[in-house]
Amino acid sequence: MTSMTGPAAVNASAVPPATGCVFCAIVAGRAPASIVREWDDALAIRPLGGGVAEGHVLVVSRRHVADVGVDPLVSASVMARAAELAAGLPAANVITSRGSAATQTVYHLHLHVVPRVEGDGLPLPWTPRQAARDAGAVTKHWTLTVEPPATVRLVCAREPIPGGPSVFLAGPTPDDAAPVPSWRPEAIRELGRQWSGPEPLVVLCPESRGNVRAERYEDQVDWEIAARAGATAIMFWVPRDMATLPGMTTNVEFGLDVGTGRAVLGCPPGCPNPERNRYLIYVARRHGVPVRTTVAGTVTTALDVIAAQPA
Ligand SMILES: [Zn+2]
Ligand SMILES: [Zn+2]
Repeated sequence: MTSMTGPAAVNASAVPPATGCVFCAIVAGRAPASIVREWDDALAIRPLGGGVAEGHVLVVSRRHVADVGVDPLVSASVMARAAELAAGLPAANVITSRGSAATQTVYHLHLHVVPRVEGDGLPLPWTPRQAARDAGAVTKHWTLTVEPPATVRLVCAREPIPGGPSVFLAGPTPDDAAPVPSWRPEAIRELGRQWSGPEPLVVLCPESRGNVRAERYEDQVDWEIAARAGATAIMFWVPRDMATLPGMTTNVEFGLDVGTGRAVLGCPPGCPNPERNRYLIYVARRHGVPVRTTVAGTVTTALDVIAAQPA
């Protein structure tokens, strides 16, 4: 036989406090805290750093469990207490995190109850696109992983731009909000395979090396403008996907570069939104810009552009 066990049945003393745990120390009365409310299975306290909003409280289980996934009954009892507090607020977030990847910092189960008011401008931790915009920074939490071939000299975002024959890899870049794999490693490998010049081909890649992000958004944009201006060829590859790779910036860049005589355009017909490439393809043809449908074909054509330049 099984029976439902209510939150009040959770035994607060079944598990000993964890040594070194700040919330266990507060529960045991061994560390100071501003206690807002007490129940037999939980405490509500002010966050130690003051919180992110007026009235922000943490509902902490008396029993030590690391996070919301450890013991469903303890989680339920803490949620029941948080619900009592939330009921008194016209608007609130009730948030908990499991694991550092989910932004958990204290490994003792707690729920944040954060009162909200219209227009308070408080970004939730899972809106990195908004947060990055607010910070004016370009954040790259995914990593460009590519071992460039010996025939290629890979130059990533904001690195010094050397002389010599070069290709700029223009096109949509994944971001934190949609961390899909980048198309650029394939293009870099293909450029290395096809390039047969006497010196390495400089490949100008607007993605950041490692996880290093631009301090200022403008630094990233300025580098891209300088790199496109100096490139011997500008290879656009546009695997359009309105959900993950919308290519809004790419559209503008193509408009700026279509008349340079150095641009080539690749549009895979099998991408999720090929109809959104129709305008680019039409404008390319009007300006005599070659249009290809594969990475390899677009690379070949970009290298033809380099070969056609006066030495
Ligand atoms: Zn604890
Ligand atoms: Zn927390």
